[in-house]
Amino acid sequence: MELQEKLKILSDSAKYDVSCSSSGGKRKNIHGGIGDSHMSGICHSWADDGRCISLLKVLLTNYCIYNCVYCVNRATNDVPRAQFTPDEIVNLTVEFYRRNYIEGLFLSSAIIKSQDYTMEMMLQVVKKLREEYRFNGYIHLKAIPGADFNLIAQAGLYADRMSVNIELPSEEGLKLLAPQKKKEAIIKPMSFLSYDHLKK
Ligand code: SF4
Repeated sequence: MELQEKLKILSDSAKYDVSCSSSGGKRKNIHGGIGDSHMSGICHSWADDGRCISLLKVLLTNYCIYNCVYCVNRATNDVPRAQFTPDEIVNLTVEFYRRNYIEGLFLSSAIIKSQDYTMEMMLQVVKKLREEYRFNGYIHLKAIPGADFNLIAQAGLYADRMSVNIELPSEEGLKLLAPQKKKEAIIKPMSFLSYDHLKK
């Protein structure tokens, strides 16, 4: 599959995560005009100094082994699927950054094969960006609930921000709509990611 097609699918799949808002404009250049507008993947967030910054917002993959009823990426939903390699995300981030399209990366993922496998792939992305490419831009990373805490902790060393989605307000809701998920698998990474814990 072409990289452009993957970007289209995996940026579209990421738009439901509203921790930052997605841009939705698509407009071609016109004769004699300047620039164009693409829907794929650029969204905005707020830096801690109050600036609005643009981010490449994508999923690593929208293939998912889970079947949460409320989610467009659930295993039984018939939608186009794609998966980036870690190198593809790294290259996209660096190239977009060099072109001044973005100031950082927002990376989340559905769960492919297992929580650990998925978190490991996301770790590869951020590690490579920081260590090999010396990328100093902003990185917001989603922790995968249920993944090994060592993997989450390692990934956290490279991210400016990590977060976990609260999927549903109650255990009953989880049982009904996302029965493969456990409340502890969501709550534990949240307390693990707290500053007080990580600074120990
Ligand atoms: S695990 Fe996440 S991506 Fe997969 S179906 Fe559930 S909410 Fe969607």
